[in-house]
Amino acid sequence: MTLDAEERERRAAQARDAVPALAGRQVDAVALTFVDNSGVARTKTIPLAGLERAAAWGVGMSPAFDAFLVDDSIAPGGRPDGDLRLLPDIGRLTALAAQPGWAWAPADRYTQDGEPYPVCQRLFATELAARAAGQDLDVRMGFEVEWAVGEGRPDDEFVPACRGPAYGMTRLIELSDYCRDVHTALAAQSVPVLQVHPEYAAGQYEVSVAPDDPVGAADTAVLVRETIRAVSARHGLRASFAPVVAAGTVGNGGHVHVSLRRDGVSLLAGGGGRYGLTDAGEAFLAGVLAELPALLAIGAPTVASYLRLVPSHWAGAYQCWGRENREAALRLVTGSTGEQDRGANAEVKCFDQSANPYLVVGAVLAAGLSRLGTGARLPDEVTGDPAGQETELARRGVHRLPQTVEDALAALSRSEALRPALGEPRYESFVDTRRAEAELFGGSTPDEVVAATRWRY
Ligand code: GLU
Ligand code: MG
Repeated sequence: MTLDAEERERRAAQARDAVPALAGRQVDAVALTFVDNSGVARTKTIPLAGLERAAAWGVGMSPAFDAFLVDDSIAPGGRPDGDLRLLPDIGRLTALAAQPGWAWAPADRYTQDGEPYPVCQRLFATELAARAAGQDLDVRMGFEVEWAVGEGRPDDEFVPACRGPAYGMTRLIELSDYCRDVHTALAAQSVPVLQVHPEYAAGQYEVSVAPDDPVGAADTAVLVRETIRAVSARHGLRASFAPVVAAGTVGNGGHVHVSLRRDGVSLLAGGGGRYGLTDAGEAFLAGVLAELPALLAIGAPTVASYLRLVPSHWAGAYQCWGRENREAALRLVTGSTGEQDRGANAEVKCFDQSANPYLVVGAVLAAGLSRLGTGARLPDEVTGDPAGQETELARRGVHRLPQTVEDALAALSRSEALRPALGEPRYESFVDTRRAEAELFGGSTPDEVVAATRWRY
């Protein structure tokens, strides 16, 4: 949508309405974020008094950020000239519970002429969500946020801030106030938390949230992460959302749950297919499954991603699906008997949080929509750990997903579902950045890659 005078005034009015409540909560300033091609949330901040103007006219930001790598070096495409406008989404404006005096809003990027910036990742998510809605699909998504809590040390080493066992109550007791503060901060920000629990790896925890529309889910992924980071800082701790926090151990996933409804009825339950899948639901999932190698370029985009994406780590290293199979890249969650209509969803497990969540939701939608209405079917499901049955699975055409950034990018370049959906400017910008980052880590050992990415996302 072009930002004409009427649209700018609509946005200004929305901001005017929002300011008094924030002022009443002693908010002084607003952080506007966007997530770049390297998966890092970058920000510009404005005083609360500047919100109305920013809502209508945006805040300047260089297009060079699209070429930033995870270490803040800039790939060759990062030009010093030109400017863009960051336009906050006032509908998502949130007073930050763990950063008193601050509010936050996610931003879209427009040109100075008021045109959508063709590389903007959040506008991509918005565009694909509209495409799904145009096919009468009500798509809900939700990111699981896993993170490892380390002691706040002057060096950048990771020393887990708790020692209790995986999923253990001990771990909750060790960081009891901290975990409560994660709950209360998210609740104060109206993030509908489903669960917070200790995870498997050392110092690791997880938050899962209720499903939302695709753009809302990506916004929430950003907000949850920044909230956890802020709560951690207040406790003198450090949160790592990196794909791998300590080389050779289980990492942090960024799994995405997807549910589909049409006319209020689930497409993943109550149908005539396997486990109640409807034809449309199965076709959508078949699209996601088929496009997983290309999706990986977006959802597991950095060299560290492939240190995480290994078999038998519940990361989903094989291109297969299975009901409640935590080793399948696409896990079908049917829900309990009696609540399938509400609970059925599919979880894409192979993604991590070095991914740009806006590109992730848009790309998953593009993959699913590409097979909708084609009669596409899922192959036979895989039960158990694929790692123990590779020969048999290879006979069925089931293989490991790409194991390097380069292989995933090659799949993306061939994808007739994803590449046109991204559009060439966005595709080129993304691929240039990802290639440059892969080169950056070209000669690095796993330990070096982990050390360089541990505290960046
Ligand atoms: N930490 C695992 C990963 O890297 C996921 C564990 C789980 O299934 O929740 O994706
Ligand atoms: Mg988990």
